[in-house]
Amino acid sequence: MSPAAPDMATLHWGYDEHNGPSHWKEVFPVANGDRQSPIDIKTTEAKYDPSLRPISPNYDPTSAKVILNNGHSTSVEFDDAENKSVLIGGPLAGTYRLRQIHFHWGSSDDAGSEHAVDGMKYAAELHVVHWNADRYSSFVEAARQPDGLAVMAVFLKIGECNPQLKKITDRLDAIRAKGKRALFTNFDPSCLLPRSLDYWTYFGSLTVPPLLESVVWIVLREPISVCSEQLAKFRSLLCTGEGEAACYLLRNYRPPQPLKGREINPVVWMCDFVCEHNTTDSPKAIRSAICPLKRPSTELEGTVTTPVSRDTHTGPRNRADRAQADRLSFPKEQGGYSLRHKEAAIP
Ligand SMILES: [Zn+2]
Repeated sequence: MSPAAPDMATLHWGYDEHNGPSHWKEVFPVANGDRQSPIDIKTTEAKYDPSLRPISPNYDPTSAKVILNNGHSTSVEFDDAENKSVLIGGPLAGTYRLRQIHFHWGSSDDAGSEHAVDGMKYAAELHVVHWNADRYSSFVEAARQPDGLAVMAVFLKIGECNPQLKKITDRLDAIRAKGKRALFTNFDPSCLLPRSLDYWTYFGSLTVPPLLESVVWIVLREPISVCSEQLAKFRSLLCTGEGEAACYLLRNYRPPQPLKGREINPVVWMCDFVCEHNTTDSPKAIRSAICPLKRPSTELEGTVTTPVSRDTHTGPRNRADRAQADRLSFPKEQGGYSLRHKEAAIP
């Protein structure tokens, strides 16, 4: 994620040989910290936590304001002066307010995501960035607190062109150079979410300088689709401003970082999330389902709820099939269950 502090601009960090992720520790020592992101999610090592609940995004399309190119990514910024668009539930205590969304991608379709799943990278990754508005007064303040930010990560997998993503890729020509911005309104980012909001959660950091260790990560299991043509549009963005010698933002992902003893908790809920925008151009109200609890958590106890297949598009689609697949595929966990209230131990 990339909400850089103002002074970062002068440090010229980037993703090239001379200023890329392996150099960031020279200016930002926390790059070697104990809760850095992204990570490789080893699904068989994830530990089920029965206290975790579904996440509930609730976004107001009118809070979208502007799309911009900051030289490291493209982002859509939202009005976060009040609780118009929020994320609650899941591992979060309190209300987290939507600040911005942005993307990470690679120089080819093979790899571009920041997180990996059992060593596999997706073509790109969407980050939906929120801050803890119950406890802190601004995004900047929250970004320095261990429970300050919540970022939902969504994998993008090569497939059909994504009509929801088109709303963004169509605007990239207007913001090709670093520093450019354009109006971007009436946009509901929940339309970029997959049907299933099953997720893995862990404590981590920003994946760009200043790499602050303030993020509760919620990594969605099911990817959304993107086509090569859409990814090519992201790569046509420039990491240089107008009038400078052009350099293309061909890739902008940090590789996975050491887990250092952290736990990853998987959460699987037998429910589907439907964005009503998928069937209409009218940017009215929000989705119909806020991922209600479909089965008692006790039913899952004694089960490691990690996916066997990374490709949920070819996996069982309906609730009953998925529930059965989960039961068949996940062996009884040998060890004890995790306690997610480990945040007390995180500095
Ligand atoms: Zn990001």
